[in-house]
Amino acid sequence: MKKQENIFPIFDKIAGRTEKEQFLNQKSKVIWMTGLSGSGKTTIAIALEKELLKRGFFSQVLDGDNVRAGINNNLGFSEEDRLENIRRIAEVSKLFLNCGIITINCFVSPTNAIRNTAKEIIGASDFIEVFIDTPIEICEQRDVKGLYKKARAGKIKDFTGINAPFEAPTHADIVVVTKNKTVEESVTVVLNAILPLITY
Ligand code: ADP
Repeated sequence: MKKQENIFPIFDKIAGRTEKEQFLNQKSKVIWMTGLSGSGKTTIAIALEKELLKRGFFSQVLDGDNVRAGINNNLGFSEEDRLENIRRIAEVSKLFLNCGIITINCFVSPTNAIRNTAKEIIGASDFIEVFIDTPIEICEQRDVKGLYKKARAGKIKDFTGINAPFEAPTHADIVVVTKNKTVEESVTVVLNAILPLITY
């Protein structure tokens, strides 16, 4: 993609992040959930957002479905498109970050390279990697959206875990092993780990 030459960033002129964080009485962070389809990212994110709201924290969930239906509706699932998908999401998250808002991102983000791209754009100190660790057998059993069935039938190509790779993160900040846990228990793991990081 060609770099724009005639752009004039105004980041130094608009009210800064610190002012907005003070206003919201929170520290903004990007909580980046990674894991297989059906591992529990969106379920945990939605419940987490409710728990945060109860405690006075202002957040926004970004997930594959709302982003791919809109800003990224021209992208598919090839290696190149997956990377562009994540690049745009990371840039959007950065705008939220500068606005003092906590984003809870739910994206399969299957490779170290993809997650590192997001981390580089967002900045390591604001990027909290959460691995929703659910074995493929369980995700496939749940098959929330019927996608595993379709992938097994050869109707979806490049489906993560079936015919596209998933590299488990080795240095995640938070790991949630969902097997034998309720949704509430999974949410508590994330909540307890992030509260100290977002409290102003
Ligand atoms: P993803 O966003 O990762 O694709 P979803 O959140 O859409 O996954 O689906 C996960 C499914 O697994 C939901 O139906 C959820 O109710 C179920 N589930 C069962 N146990 C858990 C748990 N401990 N944590 C999160 N989800 C769970």
